Amino acid sequence: MRVGVYPGTFDPVTWGHLDIIQRAGRLVDHLIVSIADNPKKNPLFTVEQRVELLQKSIAGLNESFSWSVLSFSGLLVDHAHEIKANVMIRGLRAVSDFDYEFQITNANYCLADDLETIFLMARDKYHFVSSSLVKEIASFKGDVGKFVPDGVAQELMKKFNI
Ligand code: ADP
Repeated sequence: MRVGVYPGTFDPVTWGHLDIIQRAGRLVDHLIVSIADNPKKNPLFTVEQRVELLQKSIAGLNESFSWSVLSFSGLLVDHAHEIKANVMIRGLRAVSDFDYEFQITNANYCLADDLETIFLMARDKYHFVSSSLVKEIASFKGDVGKFVPDGVAQELMKKFNI
């Protein structure tokens, strides 16, 4: 059985993430979306809130595939081994993502040679969408409706007292 892990901060989940999730769901038998519990990143949403937003957003997708949402702290490769994942999914946006992903992937290959990394691209209209961009727009009371599902937009509005 091919188990995929798609790790990230998801603070909050965007349509870019969901596009990658949907594509990954077609490639593996079971997809585990794993939220990194890393307080150093100073997230806007708690892990519990991010889990809930992801679960609701994935459940709302048109396509059905086998998935679950988890959170983890510590090394990603240890988490991947614990959940018996054999494929890691990462998303690529622009060239700017490449340096970081190149570094992380090579480090992960050194730490766990049994774990393959697959890079997927979201469709073009989501190439520039990131959680930080969405938070910035929402903080200035801008409309994030095109970048995140409705439930996420509502929670963002609450966070910024809109
Ligand atoms: P991180 O903090 O590790 O960058 P994110 O939650 O921002 O975590 O992203 C998780 C993964 O999803 C990363 O591989 C990132 O490149 C990818 N990703 C995020 N947004 C998009 C997008 N719009 N299109 C494609 N991939 C994306």
